[in-house]
Amino acid sequence: MAIKMLPKWLGIVSFLALLYGCAAPAAPQNTLVLRNGLLIDGAGAEPLPNAVVVIQGERITAVGASDAIEIPPGARVIDLQGAVILPGFINAHVHYAYDKKNLQAWAYGGVTTVRDEGIISSSANDLKKYLAQRDANNQNPKYARVAAAGYMITVPGGYGSLFVNSPEEARQQTLAELDAGVDLIKISLEDGYAGTTGLPKLSDEEIGAIITAAHERGKRVSGHITQARYLQILAAAGVDDIAHIAYDPVAAEAWATMVSKNIYLVPTFTVLRNYGAPIANCTANLENFLAQGGQAALGSDYGGGPGDFELGIPMYEIEQMSAAGMSPMQIILASTRNAAIVSGIEQETGTLVAGKLADILVVAQNPLDDLQNLRAIQMVIHGGTIIRSELLQP
Ligand SMILES: [Zn+2]
Repeated sequence: MAIKMLPKWLGIVSFLALLYGCAAPAAPQNTLVLRNGLLIDGAGAEPLPNAVVVIQGERITAVGASDAIEIPPGARVIDLQGAVILPGFINAHVHYAYDKKNLQAWAYGGVTTVRDEGIISSSANDLKKYLAQRDANNQNPKYARVAAAGYMITVPGGYGSLFVNSPEEARQQTLAELDAGVDLIKISLEDGYAGTTGLPKLSDEEIGAIITAAHERGKRVSGHITQARYLQILAAAGVDDIAHIAYDPVAAEAWATMVSKNIYLVPTFTVLRNYGAPIANCTANLENFLAQGGQAALGSDYGGGPGDFELGIPMYEIEQMSAAGMSPMQIILASTRNAAIVSGIEQETGTLVAGKLADILVVAQNPLDDLQNLRAIQMVIHGGTIIRSELLQP
C-alpha cells in the first residue's frame, strides 16, 4: 500500500514559505531515505522494485513505490542501485543475549533482534540484574534488541533454572517473572538427552497454571521439548510456540493441534545437529507440520549446548528449512514476521511498514533467487541508525 509522505498542511506551509520568500521547510532532523531498492517487506507482499523507505528518527514513516512516496526535502538519500531491502532478521532462540559482544555480532550480521530463551544458570536469583542489562543494551542500536524469557521454569531436578513445586507456586513464579519485566515465559518438558533420562517434569496442572497466568497478562509461553510425546502435551496445553523440533516422529494429530491453536514451531536444527540428533527425522517432522499448514519461525538455540553456532544470520537453519521444502519467501517470513510474533514484539518490528522501528537489512542480490545471497550484506540499519554499510563512502 502506498502511503503519502507529506501531510497536506506541509504543502501549504511550503507555499506560504515561498510567498514570504523564506526557504522551504527542510525535512525534520534525522530523516533518512533509501531509494531504488527491491523491497521484500517481511509481510508476504510481492517484492516491490524501485521502492522508497523513509525513516525519521528510529521509525519508518513511509514505504512504497517511488511514484507514490515524496522524498522530504533535505533528507539524507541513499541510492541502493537495485539492492534488496528486507526487515532485519530475528533469531527467536538464543542464549547469552546479555553479552555485548554477542549482541554486537548479531546486529552487525543482520540479526537486529534476538529472543533470549532462558538465562543459563543453576539458580534463578538475578532476574532484575539481567533485565536491567537488557533495558540498557536495548537503547544502543549497535546491539541486537533482546526479547527476554527470563529463567526456564521446571520442577526441582528438572531441565531449567526456576523451580516450582505446585500449581499455586507455578502461578506465583510466573507472575513474579512477569512483574520483573520478562517479555515471555519459557517452560520445559524434557525427559533428558545426551545420556540422561528420567528427569522430573512439570505436571499438567502446573503447565496449565503457568500458561493461564501468562495469558492473563497478554504474554506468550514458549515450550521446550525434544521428544514427540512432550510436544503433544505442550501443544494440547496451549503454549504459543514449541522450542525445538522433536527428533522422533510426531503424530499427525499433534501437528493438527498445533495448527488449530496457531502454535508456532521454532525448529533449532543447529543445536540438534550439535547433539548428534538424526536431522533427517527433524526435517521430515518440519515437512509434515508445514503440509498441515503450520508456521515456523527462525531460531538456532545459540549457546544452548556444545559445538558451533552462527552469530549473525544462522544459515544452517535456513538451509534445513529449505531442505524441508520451505520456499525462500516462507523462510524470510519465518525469519522476520513470524520470529517477531513468537518474541511478542510484532507491533514494533519484523515487517517494513510505516510506524514500525527501522530495523533493515540490505543485501546485494535477491535472496528469493538464492538464499545464499543473504550472506552478501550491504547495509544494516537498527532502530533508524546505520550500524553497517558497504555502500557509503567513509
Ligand atoms: Zn535453548
